[in-house]
Amino acid sequence: GDCLLVKIVQKLKSCLRSGDLLARIGGDEFAILLAGFERADYPAEIASQIQQKFSAPIEVENRSILITTSIGIAPLTNINDLEHQESSYSLIEALQNAEIAMHQAKNKGKACSVVFESAAYLQSIAKFKSENELRAAIELEQFELHYQPIIKLADRQLVGFEALVRWQHPDKGMVAPGDFIPLAESTGLIIPIGWWVLRSACAQMVLWQQDRPKSKLAFISVNIAGKQFSQPYAGDIIAQILTETGLDPRCLKLEITESEIIENVNVVLSTAEKLKKLGVQLSMDDFGTGYSSLSYLHCLPVDTLKIDRSFVENIESNIHELELVKTIIKLAQVFNLDVVAEGIEREQQCDRLLELQCEYGQGYLFSKPLSLAEANNLLES
Ligand code: C2E
Ligand code: CA
Ligand code: CA
Ligand code: CA
Repeated sequence: GDCLLVKIVQKLKSCLRSGDLLARIGGDEFAILLAGFERADYPAEIASQIQQKFSAPIEVENRSILITTSIGIAPLTNINDLEHQESSYSLIEALQNAEIAMHQAKNKGKACSVVFESAAYLQSIAKFKSENELRAAIELEQFELHYQPIIKLADRQLVGFEALVRWQHPDKGMVAPGDFIPLAESTGLIIPIGWWVLRSACAQMVLWQQDRPKSKLAFISVNIAGKQFSQPYAGDIIAQILTETGLDPRCLKLEITESEIIENVNVVLSTAEKLKKLGVQLSMDDFGTGYSSLSYLHCLPVDTLKIDRSFVENIESNIHELELVKTIIKLAQVFNLDVVAEGIEREQQCDRLLELQCEYGQGYLFSKPLSLAEANNLLES
């Protein structure tokens, strides 16, 4: 009856401050709009105050009536979506979200409250979780390097290894770089990870040179992210790693992609000059996939072009691909650069590349990336 309603409203009002709105939105449902608050947990506090108020039965006309409250809480502004802080919900959306949360509260049991969580919020929690895992992975020594042979096409002799990072995740097992490098780049974690990779690869190369002085292994090739390479002290860090590990700078090749160069041309150029003086070699990775490869060729002191896999893929059947690769190889000859063709999987691809006088190659036809044990075996044979 009316009397019960009045008492419910009184109890609710006693929990609110001036400026807060209380509305009955039908049947036994009420909506409260909090005018503003200082602490993030304030709405949850109000919810528990309300539930306290209703924990005792209400006396109406000599009857006691126990009311259980299920409360759903939703933000009016989209504070859950950390990436788009300006966007805000409409009042209707907020009410709908609160209603969803209220139904969840009802399902949970008597006198519960639930805070609405948007998909974006849950996503940002998941991202936060993997970011923390990635952050811890360095200290927990969960990264390891695999080594893919780079060979001379004419005699298929090993000339170098490309170091490729892997994440040995405690639950997910081996994670490929494609699945964590993007997160590492967007969070800046690529910088410590990248320097770990470089230090480990240089140290391993020194071990190989000490243990197998007669091997044909001439260099180790290491991928450097643009963010890493454009750090103001990148040149000094690289020099320090070479000194610490004792690796001859001429045995180190750094692979950078052109799109990463473009973002920070000036810093990259000065670091590249520094490295050149040390004797470190530079490789332009995924050549041809960027948008202005040619304009950087004459100003960047690169030694090697790596032709991206996508250009080699159908080289036997696609005349345009063949012509393109032919042109890249001629270009490299003009600039006196070495050429490595990536992603060679079939003999016919290798034949075409030899005809075009491509000197070096890398791909599953010769070897997939090898674990340390497998790489050691290869060097033994
Ligand atoms: P990338 O530098 O172009 O490395 C070559 C990728 O192609 C490797 O994938 C390799 O396993 C794969 N591959 C080699 N031969 C073949 C083939 O014949 N067929 C096919 N389909 N694939 C082949 P991976 O190891 O998954 O690495 C992917 C990318 O992740 C790399 O591409 C590189 O951009 C990045 N990456 C790997 N390690 C590092 C690192 O230590 N630092 C940075 N910044 N990036 C890294
Ligand atoms: Ca590479
Ligand atoms: Ca590549
Ligand atoms: Ca590639």
